[in-house]
Amino acid sequence: MRVAVIKEAAPAERRVALVPEAVAKLQAAGHEVLVQAGAGAGAFFPDEAYSAAGASVVPADKALAADVLLMVGRPDATVIARLRSGQAIFGLLAPLSDPEFAQRLAATGVTAVSLDLIPRTLPRAQPMDALTSQANIAGYKAALLAAAAFARFFPLLITAAGTARPAKVLVLGTGVAGLQAIGTARRLGAVVSAYDVRPETKTEVTSLGATFIELTSVGPAAGEGGYARALTDDERAAQQAELTDHIARHDVVITTAQVPGRRPPLLVTGEALKAMAPGSVLVDMGASALGGNVEGSVPGETTVTDNGITIIGADNLPSTMAAAASAMYARNISSLLLYMTADGAFTVDLEDELVAGVVITHDAQVVHPALAEAAIASPGGSVHAAH
Ligand code: NAD
Repeated sequence: MRVAVIKEAAPAERRVALVPEAVAKLQAAGHEVLVQAGAGAGAFFPDEAYSAAGASVVPADKALAADVLLMVGRPDATVIARLRSGQAIFGLLAPLSDPEFAQRLAATGVTAVSLDLIPRTLPRAQPMDALTSQANIAGYKAALLAAAAFARFFPLLITAAGTARPAKVLVLGTGVAGLQAIGTARRLGAVVSAYDVRPETKTEVTSLGATFIELTSVGPAAGEGGYARALTDDERAAQQAELTDHIARHDVVITTAQVPGRRPPLLVTGEALKAMAPGSVLVDMGASALGGNVEGSVPGETTVTDNGITIIGADNLPSTMAAAASAMYARNISSLLLYMTADGAFTVDLEDELVAGVVITHDAQVVHPALAEAAIASPGGSVHAAH
């Protein structure tokens, strides 16, 4: 098969789907690797590095005509207009936030594979788990951003010019990103506390040398697939009120809380912000157009409140570490492609739980069960929910 690395559509996206070192693995499986000219530039992988690794650097037209197209983010309208039946595309397509998008892909006849839907609880899916690889990077970078914006030290520092006490860092949400933020803040010498609505994360938090905060007003709220469930209005209000005191006692707060398919929960209210000391820093990894974990946070922007609190709205942190993020993503995407290849040909076995979890369109139909309901609700949607 001809497998092509497509240049990312979003101007701010610096990652690339395949790095030069991943070319050999696909070639060894019998695939020809094409790379759209300039695709790796944002991640510091020049065209020559791909050529040296054995790939063919080609113009957009030739890349888009390949059998399998690899990308990080969604294809734009220009790319979608070029897609054809029998082709496959792989990427972090985020179809749940916009079911119409899956229908547009289905209309092209393409088989669309969305790495962000990988069933993460299947052990064989671990090498393909791009959500985890990218969340790890995001958590690390969030702690660094917090340290860089904080006007004091993270570590205890004893010098002839005086002693600096260690920063007190609070991490809210201790999934993959939160745990990496804890580890990074600890390595910088901060004293770290953390909280999650899933108390089972306590062991991981304490093993990283942080203190786990238990709230008395909210019980465990584990949902499906290892994720959290959305809290009720009463639970949310109680949680926000109880967290306010903890937040006020910390210099730095890093928030990472997410609930699949929902607006990120608001954990740091305007009241909580008012109670913080001037110079405090928040990094909101839940920042989104719908609102984030911190009241008033804006994705991609750093704001300073009237009382001197810096709020950093995170926006695609993995893209800011494009070389590392692309290297990990390349391993994830090539593992998944090879998993879906038999005797050199692309196969779609929807009886396989892993494959059924990631394929969103096939044979000109939206086939993913999570998208079926939305497609039915929308006239013109063609849905085949056989599994
Ligand atoms: P996520 O990004 O969906 O959410 C981040 C964290 O926010 C979660 O820990 C969640 O419990 C927490 N959260 C949600 N609402 C909250 C609230 N109101 N207050 C406080 N915290 C709240 O999660 P993730 O990092 O993608 O990981 C989710 C789970 O999946 C974890 O248990 C993780 O270990 C698991 N996982 C499993 C595998 C595997 O089995 N191979 C791989 C990756 C992740």
